[in-house]
Amino acid sequence: MINTSTTDRFDLHCHSTASDGKLSPSAVVTRAHQNGVTHLSLTDHDSVAGLVEAHSEAEKIGIRLIPGVELSVSWGSQCFHVVGLNIDSDNLKLKEGMQTIQRMRESRARAIGERLEKKGIPGCYDAAKKLAGKGTVTRTHFAQHLVNQNHATGMQKAFDRYLLRGKPGFVATLWPDMKDAIGWIRDSGGIAVLAHPLRYKITATRLRSMLQDYKIAGGRAIEVVCGSSSANDILNATRLARQFELLGSVGSDFHSPENQWIDLGRLQDLPNNIDPVWTAIKAIAAIHH
Ligand code: AMP
Ligand code: MN
Ligand code: MN
Ligand code: MN
Repeated sequence: MINTSTTDRFDLHCHSTASDGKLSPSAVVTRAHQNGVTHLSLTDHDSVAGLVEAHSEAEKIGIRLIPGVELSVSWGSQCFHVVGLNIDSDNLKLKEGMQTIQRMRESRARAIGERLEKKGIPGCYDAAKKLAGKGTVTRTHFAQHLVNQNHATGMQKAFDRYLLRGKPGFVATLWPDMKDAIGWIRDSGGIAVLAHPLRYKITATRLRSMLQDYKIAGGRAIEVVCGSSSANDILNATRLARQFELLGSVGSDFHSPENQWIDLGRLQDLPNNIDPVWTAIKAIAAIHH
């Protein structure tokens, strides 16, 4: 049961070395605690591998850890990110789903490596895999390698020059269908949250059409407040949440202390005309206990 009080501070979206974050799961938990977070969800890309370590650290220092994941999904030909909160990481359907995505990531990484090699930059696949270690391999690892090798002066530049749609290292990938992925999250007892709704390159009309399908598929919530949100972003996301009767989540999408603008727990308040996603997590916990 999650009891909330006025001193509660939620951060329900962040990454560790289990995917493309810079800090280990326990270091993420420690930093969140230091920043005043009381309820944290670790949501690595397509992986729950960091949750055991995060959990034991959370118990040690007294912070609530809500098991989470950020799934890469497709709607039409476009990639969206759906966060699963309060998932059961042992659930078979969810585990198989994540394995499917990991296989897709592996073959995409090889293809990215081949494409960059054709552009005269060999060795990127091996280097990205090495940077990812045991964690999910992502474009962030390719970007990091390109920066390390002075092919780009910063992560953003590496994405802009090599890794975004239309650039030499971009490989289109058909991730599992959004409704299937939402199904896995729900099957595991979790709540589906559409991550960073304003970050997709999509028209407002198409985003609304996507949200309609998202609702029908069982999506329950949307991130109203992100680490990168401006006041105007929060207004727009609030409008979407209210129009589609979605619960609101807050998550920094923290990856690394090197990004000075985004940190664990550094988030605007959820507007008070939005029902917080944690009210539903409490209800789920009450049924299960
Ligand atoms: P992937 O899921 O492998 O396609 O990698 C996506 C990850 O790359 C995201 O989760 C972000 O962490 C990072 N990313 C995506 N776009 C950008 C960008 N334009 N600049 C910096 N990082 C980005
Ligand atoms: Mn990421
Ligand atoms: Mn994301
Ligand atoms: Mn994320």
